[in-house]
Amino acid sequence: MAKTGREKIVGNGANGNGSSDASTKAEASTDVAEDSSRSDVISPIKTADDERVGNALRPRHFEEYVGQIAVVDSISVAVSAADRRGDALDHVLLHGPPGLGKTTIAHIIAREMDSRLVHTSGPAMERPADVVGILSNLDTRDVLFIDEIHRLSSAVEEYLYSAMEDFRVDFTTGQGAFAKTINLPLQPFTLIGSTTRVGMLSAPLRDRFGLVYHLDYYTEEQLTLVVQRSAKILGVEVTETGAAEIARRSRGTPRIANRLLRRVRDYAEVKYDGVISDDIAKSALQLEGVDRLGLDRLDRLYLETLAKNYDGGPAGVNALAATLNEEQQTLEDVVEPYLLKIGFILRTTQGRRTTPEGAKHAGVVQAPGVELKPDPQQTRFL
Ligand code: ADP
Repeated sequence: MAKTGREKIVGNGANGNGSSDASTKAEASTDVAEDSSRSDVISPIKTADDERVGNALRPRHFEEYVGQIAVVDSISVAVSAADRRGDALDHVLLHGPPGLGKTTIAHIIAREMDSRLVHTSGPAMERPADVVGILSNLDTRDVLFIDEIHRLSSAVEEYLYSAMEDFRVDFTTGQGAFAKTINLPLQPFTLIGSTTRVGMLSAPLRDRFGLVYHLDYYTEEQLTLVVQRSAKILGVEVTETGAAEIARRSRGTPRIANRLLRRVRDYAEVKYDGVISDDIAKSALQLEGVDRLGLDRLDRLYLETLAKNYDGGPAGVNALAATLNEEQQTLEDVVEPYLLKIGFILRTTQGRRTTPEGAKHAGVVQAPGVELKPDPQQTRFL
């Protein structure tokens, strides 16, 4: 059963989600993520615009959460069991590409547990004092959500070990002869970590999560449901084929589906009567530079560069980033996971390569028969 919840969202300046419904009034920061959007790049990375609209579109209960059925089933059981015992839920690690619903799950868990959600991120917890401050303010069964947990410094990470395992932190005050170690007991809480780079997490930290889940890209049918649900909330009329067209071009990612829906809505309102049909969705998204597979300008440029400039590879991601004048991290987190997923590129031990399908999409015919050895690491993206 869905709960009405007293989930309170507390930011610590790290990306605190500052809005919520009436019962979940934000208490602190209304910071928003830096707007990294470029009109011709449909990145799944959160922008300020997503932050504003995203909270309205975010499912509030597992019943509204589309897809990821195995993950949702497993978490629901764990939440009910913890609830029945009156315990805090085991620590949860959610990993997968950006925009797939990791933050949304953390919010739902806090709501289902009828507890407070404290939202922070790895880069925001710079000093050990930040961690001790946050941890010591947690109440029993509170949820501490750490986004981009792979970016925690090792000094900060070490404080989390005893906090997660024994619900206590030991810290030192003073220096030299005046140094004193204080042992601070904590209330039993749940840490939810979210990361796009699970491979970068240290083994001791990873081992302290009792529940570990990988979120996968969504199917077209699931994204059609996401678009239809969001359209209803935004008061936009969309035909079934119109929703499917947006879903098809959303790179398996709900955040992108919601963003494209907003772009198509604007187009339909300005040029037509506001109703989104498949034809209107197609022309609006063509105008946005999103092709029939959902690839945007940067994806195509990446493919073309690899296929033409590097003869299909192998090429190192740093060389590609330099050629494209893009951040290596953007290529690794945003561009490559989906191109890997649809089989357009391969990460081999020697570097990135295009597959014949990828080269064809870039307008190049690639000679078949090259022996490719996949990099075992690439599976963590899939
Ligand atoms: P992540 O934390 O993985 O980057 P979010 O949880 O912030 O992703 O999700 C991005 C947006 O996508 C949310 O605002 C929400 O509206 C939408 N969304 C994500 N997952 C789902 C889902 N399973 N069903 C419906 N909408 C979803």
